Amino acid sequence: ICYTRCDLSEVVKESLAVVTPPLEEKQISVNAKFPRHKLLLLGDGQQLKQVFINIILNALDAMGTGGALNIQVSAAEMDDKEAVQVKISDTGGGIPLESLNSIFTPFFTTKGSGTGLGLPIANRIITNHGGKIQVTNNPGLGVEFRVILPKHW
Ligand code: ADP
Ligand code: MG
Repeated sequence: ICYTRCDLSEVVKESLAVVTPPLEEKQISVNAKFPRHKLLLLGDGQQLKQVFINIILNALDAMGTGGALNIQVSAAEMDDKEAVQVKISDTGGGIPLESLNSIFTPFFTTKGSGTGLGLPIANRIITNHGGKIQVTNNPGLGVEFRVILPKHW
């Protein structure tokens, strides 16, 4: 694998561009916040794009027409070291508690035609980059996925 310096905001913007058509079709309002300065990391931009696309498509699946997708790119801390992060949250009603422990398990899906591979692959990619994914579930409201990666200069 070849890791290069990437600006996290650019990776997220490219991911958003890929999913714009289905977001528009469902009339999801997108609220995306980016920092003024670049947030650099060492990574494979294509793989990281896949991570954000997978998370956003899940948010889309969870939401009905007129939902809201919130995305925020910012600096963060991981194990007392400087890091960068993306928070992606939706208004899709959240994850049922009985599913919560299984969402990163390969082939676990609650969808009729789901593969159950989106989150396991995302998790693998982020772990390979030295990062982690955290999930905050708000049953009845929605879910926030937080992807944290080591900062690079
Ligand atoms: P798939 O999308 O093919 O079902 P994933 O690995 O991407 O597989 O997701 C696994 C499961 O996690 C989904 O089937 C769904 O039950 C749950 N899930 C993931 N993201 C969300 C979300 N934003 N809101 C509610 N449930 C979610
Ligand atoms: Mg999925």
